[in-house]
Amino acid sequence: MAELKLNHIYKVYPNGHKAVNDFSMEIEDKEFIVFVGPSGCGKSTTLRMIAGLEDITAGELIIGGEVMNYVEAKDRDIAMVFQNYALYPHMSVYENMAFGLRLRKLPKDEIDRKVKEAAEILGISEYLNKKPKEMSGGQRQRVALGRAIVREPKVFLLDEPLSNLDAKLRTAMRAEISKLHKKLKTTFIYVTHDQVEAMTMGTRIVVMKDGFIQQIDSPSNLYNYPCNKFVAGFIGTPQMNFYNAKLEKTDSGIRVAFDDTNVDFSAPLKYFSKVDEIYLDGKRPIIAGIRSEHVSVDSKLYPFKTKCRVSYVEDLGVESQIYADFALNAEDAVIESPTKIIIKSPPGIKYEPDEIIDISIDLKNMHLFDAETENTIAPRLPESYGVNGTVKNNVLKVLGTEFALPAALSCEDGEYEVRFPRQALSFGGSISAVYCGEEDVNGVKVAEVNAGGKSLFLPLSEGEAVEKTVKRKGKTASVEVCTLSLDLKYVSLLKDGETVRTAMPLCNSLVGKVVKKKIAVAREVNGKMKNVKELRYYLTVGEETAEIPEHIAEKMLKSGGKNIFRDLTELRLGLDGIKLSQSGITANVERIADYGKDKFVECSIATGKVFAQIPSDCPLDAVKIEIIWDGVSIYDKDFDIRLV
Ligand code: ADP
Repeated sequence: MAELKLNHIYKVYPNGHKAVNDFSMEIEDKEFIVFVGPSGCGKSTTLRMIAGLEDITAGELIIGGEVMNYVEAKDRDIAMVFQNYALYPHMSVYENMAFGLRLRKLPKDEIDRKVKEAAEILGISEYLNKKPKEMSGGQRQRVALGRAIVREPKVFLLDEPLSNLDAKLRTAMRAEISKLHKKLKTTFIYVTHDQVEAMTMGTRIVVMKDGFIQQIDSPSNLYNYPCNKFVAGFIGTPQMNFYNAKLEKTDSGIRVAFDDTNVDFSAPLKYFSKVDEIYLDGKRPIIAGIRSEHVSVDSKLYPFKTKCRVSYVEDLGVESQIYADFALNAEDAVIESPTKIIIKSPPGIKYEPDEIIDISIDLKNMHLFDAETENTIAPRLPESYGVNGTVKNNVLKVLGTEFALPAALSCEDGEYEVRFPRQALSFGGSISAVYCGEEDVNGVKVAEVNAGGKSLFLPLSEGEAVEKTVKRKGKTASVEVCTLSLDLKYVSLLKDGETVRTAMPLCNSLVGKVVKKKIAVAREVNGKMKNVKELRYYLTVGEETAEIPEHIAEKMLKSGGKNIFRDLTELRLGLDGIKLSQSGITANVERIADYGKDKFVECSIATGKVFAQIPSDCPLDAVKIEIIWDGVSIYDKDFDIRLV
């Protein structure tokens, strides 16, 4: 078994360069994982940390259930294949393949059997007596693969193994490596900067940029559901067409208008069910993306029709790529114009330069991104919602349901934007909803429901069954209905974009410094009680101090070393990670948030604020808070590295 777990892995090089940030993923046994991204994004560094050729700055690497951070490369049961083959020039192919096994002192006949078997698999049996220089690049790369195969490793790591080969050979070797993976039935991790290689080989692909994972997904999900503009542009050729645009909710659906173009159309609301309302005001800048294969020169193919002006056509034999512009006046066009469009069409199509043509666009396959963050505004599982609600006499009407507002949310009558994270929603409760169906989002079942005209998406835990009933609708039609609840403590109310009532956060943050102290403790030594000095670790927040439990301090030290005393440390804890207590850190009460059954206190400590639930029997004068250390995430704030 060779499943791998990478838990919050970081690499900071001695010169301070942070090459890999918070790399976390689980790789199942026998998967073919590809790390892809532009040069310098941290692919090789990550692979080299897995191989043991590079120290892991922080985080945990687990292979086959064992922590490997400090295990030497040679003891990791991993084989690595490099771009430059790294063959010994003076040795024959046979010797190159046998070399590692000889070092391990395997019996001669076993070495012979393994080398011949690997040569057979790779189709290089007849070259065993040749020297590397007598072979082509492709054959040499096969030898390098053979040298890895004979070791029968648990994990194969391949670092751009095909980039020295010409295009034709690369395509052939790509298929061979995929076949090899099927034959060997082991875990493969493959690094490449070539998205075509990634898309054709990986069962799952990790797209990286600037040391950060952008998306981990199957090839088809990367193509269909890119999580940001970078992934959208990186996957697929030619690159996706992007336009600055605005969206506006109208009576008939959503009006989509591309800036500075004749593209302005109305699309059905259902295509935008996952888009947050804040983007539908007709003003907020967004980026719309359309792949060239989702635009057609057949103006009747898709319902939305418009015009563009052809610049030139590239006929590639299997298809044509038409370079055009939404600017219909040739004088308006500039190179790299923001209104240019590339259209894929069948081969042999002919147009005059500057010819105005009719095209149609497939709106179902349009991608939408925030203009500033460049993240998708239609995530497969939305993080939060903003819905219109009305307050009258302290009753909030939202999602087709009325809620009596608790004191914490009590506010003037009027229209509000009601915002809440998806965690505020759960099944069962007073909200009636129509059950619309389920989709699989990376192995998690996500249910779509509609409450008061708003689509909501709830992930289901494994084995969770939603209680549904069938409701008749007319004589023949029927719908499935269910109920939901909304946890009001996570609800914020906004007026004209300003927050007027703040929700309880999902996560508390506390920043301080770690110090160590030697303290005297009474211990039994040789049957006598003695005062011995022991090292303890503390978190100081302003003037206040909390002891860090030994097992947590140990983990922090292991990850951060001495840096944990030098830099600021941030604790991130759930709402239940901070408890009001008789002893602990003293905090100033800023506000009490009364949600009826649940009451919370917002308190300030030094420069920060934390929220804690008030137990029903707790008197509230000066409060002290206690940190629930198990379950806390600890970050080195200066380097933004997760220590625990
Ligand atoms: P990739 O494989 O994606 O091309 P690498 O993992 O090789 O990228 O490098 C990631 C980043 O780390 C790059 O910016 C590179 O310059 C930097 N880097 C790599 N090795 C070192 C090193 N030994 N010291 C400092 N920086 C390094």
